[in-house]
Formats: sequence, structure tokens, C-alpha cells
Amino acid sequence: MMVENSTTTTTAIPFGEFITQFKATIKQLFAEREQNFAAQVQRGFSTEELTKIMAQTPLSVAIPSAYGGRGAHPRECMSLLEACSYESIPLTLMCGINIALFIEPFAKYGDESIKSRIFGKFLDDKCMGGLMITEPDHGSDALNMKTSYTTSASGDYHLTGTKHWQGLTGLADYWLVAARKMTSKGALSRDVDLFVSEDNIPAQHINVTEYYENYGLYQIPYGRNEIDINVPGTHRLQPETTGIKMLMDTLHRSRLQFPGMALGFLRRALEEATNHCQERMVRGKSLRQFDQIEQLLVRLESSYTICSSMCYASSHGTSIDFDLALKGIEANTFKAVVSDLMQESAQILTQLLGGKGYLVQSLGSRSIMDSRPFQIFEGPNDMLFTQLADMVLKAMSKAKEMNLLSFMKTYELSRRSAEIFKADINVNLDRAMPQRKSVIIGEVMAFVIIAHNIMQMRDQGFNSQLAENALIRLQQDVSGRMNSYTNRRDNQPTEGYMEDSSWYALLDKVEV
Ligand SMILES: Cc1cc2nc3c(=O)[nH]c(=O)nc-3n(C[C@H](O)[C@H](O)[C@H](O)COP(=O)(O)OP(=O)(O)OC[C@H]3O[C@@H](n4cnc5c(N)ncnc54)[C@H](O)[C@@H]3O)c2cc1C
Repeated sequence: MMVENSTTTTTAIPFGEFITQFKATIKQLFAEREQNFAAQVQRGFSTEELTKIMAQTPLSVAIPSAYGGRGAHPRECMSLLEACSYESIPLTLMCGINIALFIEPFAKYGDESIKSRIFGKFLDDKCMGGLMITEPDHGSDALNMKTSYTTSASGDYHLTGTKHWQGLTGLADYWLVAARKMTSKGALSRDVDLFVSEDNIPAQHINVTEYYENYGLYQIPYGRNEIDINVPGTHRLQPETTGIKMLMDTLHRSRLQFPGMALGFLRRALEEATNHCQERMVRGKSLRQFDQIEQLLVRLESSYTICSSMCYASSHGTSIDFDLALKGIEANTFKAVVSDLMQESAQILTQLLGGKGYLVQSLGSRSIMDSRPFQIFEGPNDMLFTQLADMVLKAMSKAKEMNLLSFMKTYELSRRSAEIFKADINVNLDRAMPQRKSVIIGEVMAFVIIAHNIMQMRDQGFNSQLAENALIRLQQDVSGRMNSYTNRRDNQPTEGYMEDSSWYALLDKVEV
């Protein structure tokens, strides 16, 4: 998309001023939107809305200062995402896609000869970018993708294939397209490369053959993309070692910055639920006074605390100067847990609002659909928890310590917190376990790691009552999961489940 040049040089003002101005703009914009029923289910942001948002140059936070941006500081990127998600989950995702899936990898691995021009387009023409990995037959097993490329004698690349479900389909001006090299024998190499495509150049234009009628995230277009493009040699990203490591570095950075996209929403859900429960009278007392309601409010509050601890941790080590390819444990923990928290908070808010929560203009039911795909994209959570368990079990095996408590007590990501879980995690683990158990153990490991982060943040001066409540909640969750782990049976889906399974027909049989 191209919108008018902003007259304000928003990159020149201090960050505090920049973010205050940005918050004020989007607050007003979404307040107007809330009054408009049709806007809630309208596809895409209107040009007027997008112009107002982009005039603040929000994406400048992720652009290195050498190219005129605000410097790509993770704390500023996540602070911007937090501000967006307080107002709108689709808005934060729109910025998150641009920041983590295009700007950061392009800034780190892009060819120097094209960076200045393309970043200039982001800053001056408010252009946008996204990432194409998923294919119709290859989603969670993305590394088996079939999109391929060949190299011409002049050094250009020709890419062909089909991608789908890309956020900002048909809207982004720039794409990073993942593809595998086609060898002279017609086989696909194991490695994956990333290429920049410029949509306004005919040879690089990606054809959208279908727009999806997605539920939720109405403001973000999705669809099916047919790739048949030629890009110059400068448009291939330059990995430091392998393309797969570059892809993992990119995805891990994105997963570690997910909490930025969650935090504003989690705070909003807490605020809306607290206000509603104070005001709503049931049986002569406010909802807030019921014990069950207090329990739900504590869960909303602790989700906010847990997510804050992740933002705090990610602000230190996720800049593009770091190689995050090997940070799978931290990245899977943050992404899977925080997206589960978003969905849980959406469900709790809807419940607490009663019938009101089901109105289109309610944040409750809207956020159920808006937050649900966060549990699926960039790796379905079940898969991420299994991978997390595998990685930790491998480290345990290497350390020759298969007792979970003993290992977590010495492990650098959990040594601070393991002790508070001792009543539940003092178990010996086997590396080989059914996947349904490894998902649970992965969750338990993630909760212990997060408790470590919370304790560190508390030690630095974060509200100790909030920290205490979050630690109690994690202890309860670990206890519940370990109970489930111990008692889980490996029962299988029933073959022929329609046979003799009609209660109605059974009545006839019995009556005869
Ligand atoms: C709203 C939205 C936005 C998206 N944005 C983008 C984008 O910007 N760019 C892009 O390239 N793609 C994007 N995607 C695609 C997304 O990454 C894929 O949908 C996701 O990887 C799952 O792939 P799939 O849909 O093919 O499902 P499948 O691979 O068929 O998996 C279906 C389900 O099976 C389960 N499953 C799969 N593998 C395992 C496993 N190993 N262990 C246990 N359970 C498993 C999971 O529950 C999973 O959800 C987006 C998708 C959605 C819905």
C-alpha cells in the first residue's frame, strides 16, 4: 500500500513522545470505530484509517538508524506492539508481521545495495512487508515446502510455487518468499532460502488467486498466492551459515517478541473485566465479591504479569545483533504460553461479561476469534510444546540427570524457580514417551522457566504482589498438569464409532 507522505518527522522525536502521540492517535481512531457496528466486521482497515495509523510511522521503530529508522531496539518494538494490542489485536498483528517477519530479517540478512531504498519506502511511502512460508500441503512441516527456485546465467532467480495464509495477502508491497533450490537433476535441496520480492515490479508481482473469508482478524487479508517471479541476485537474503539457521533465527526472534503483541490485550481484558465485575450487581452484590469471580480475575491479572516478564526478558536479548537460531527452548516457551494466555483471557472476559460479551462490539467474543490463530501460526502450540520437551529431555540426557526437579534446579533457565515446584516435579523422566505426555511435560517445563523469569523481574523491583499471585497460579497449573501427566492413558480413537452408537436405535432394541 502507498499512502501520502507524513509531514512530521516522527523518527526525530524522543521515543516517549513518539509513543504517546501514537497511542493518542489510535485511541481516538478505535473509539470512533467502536461506535460503528459495520466497522467491526468490515474487511481490512479503510484507507482513511490506515493513513492515520501509518502517518505516525509506527514501523520506524524496527528500522535500523543507519537507514533513517528509530534503531530497531526490541524494547521500543515491543512497546509499540503493546500499544497497538491494547486497542486492537489485528492492528498489533499487522505491525508484528511487518516488524518480525519482514523488517528484522531483511535488516539482518538483506543485501546492502537494496536496503536503503526499500527502508526508505517503508518510512516515506508507508510501505509494508510480510513473509511467505506456508503452502497448502506444507504448513506445520514447512521445511518440506515445494516452492523452488533456479538460478539463471545472469544470476537472477526464478521462483515458482503456491503459498497460502500469508498475513497482508494482496496488501503488502514487499515479501520474503521461502523456497528450496531445484538442482540440475530436478531434486529439491534440503536447505531453505529467502528472497525479497517487490510487488510493484511486474516480474516480481505475486498473483493472489483467492482471498480467504477468514473468521476473526477481519482487518488482515489472507489468501492463496501463486508464485512465478524473477528476482535479481541482490534479492536473495545472505545467511551467515545455512538458510534453515537463518529461518530459525527469524522465527525464534518473532516468537520471543510475541509477548509484545499480547500484553496490551491482556491488560485491556484485565481492566474491562475488573471494571465490569465492580459495577455489575447480581443477587444484591457486585460480581467482584463472588469467590469464583475473584479466581478468574486473578487468572487475568497473572496472565498480565507472566506476559510482562516475557517482554522484560525479550527486551534484553532479541535484537538483530544476536543469533537466536539455538534459542528454541525460550522461543517455544514464550510463543506457546503467551498465545494460550491470550485465548484464556478472551474466554474469561467473555464469560464474565455474560450476554454482553457476545455482542459484536464486545472485546470478549471478538478477541476469542482474533487471538485463536496465535495458537496455530508460527508453529501450532502442541507441536511447540513437544519440541520444547524434546530439547529439554536431550539436555537432561546429556547432563545424565533424568530427574526433572534435580535438572531444573541446576538448569540456567529455571534454577531460580525449580524449588517452588518440588512437590510436583520430583519425577524421573524417560526420553521416549507418548506425544500426549510430552506436550504436558513441555508445558510444565515452560511454566517453570517462566516462574524463573518472574522471580528475576520481581528482584529488579516489579510489583511483588503481582509476582506472588502469578507464581501461585503457575504452581497450581504445574500441579494440575503433573496430575494429568501421571494419570494420562493412551486410549485411541474408536474405529467404526458409528456402529451400535445410536441411543435412539438402542431404545428400539431394548424395548423389543
Ligand atoms: C490467521 C493465520 C495467519 C497466518 N499467517 C501466516 C503468515 O503470515 N505467513 C505464512 O507463511 N503462514 C501463515 N499462516 C499459516 C500457519 O503458519 C499454518 O496454518 C500453520 O503452520 C499450520 O499449518 P496447516 O494450516 O497446514 O495445518 P497442519 O499442518 O495440517 O496442522 C493442523 C493441526 O495439526 C496439529 N499438528 C500439526 N503438526 C503437529 C505435530 N507435529 N504434533 C502435534 N500436533 C500437530 C496442530 O494442532 C495443527 O494446528 C497463518 C495461518 C493463520 C490461520
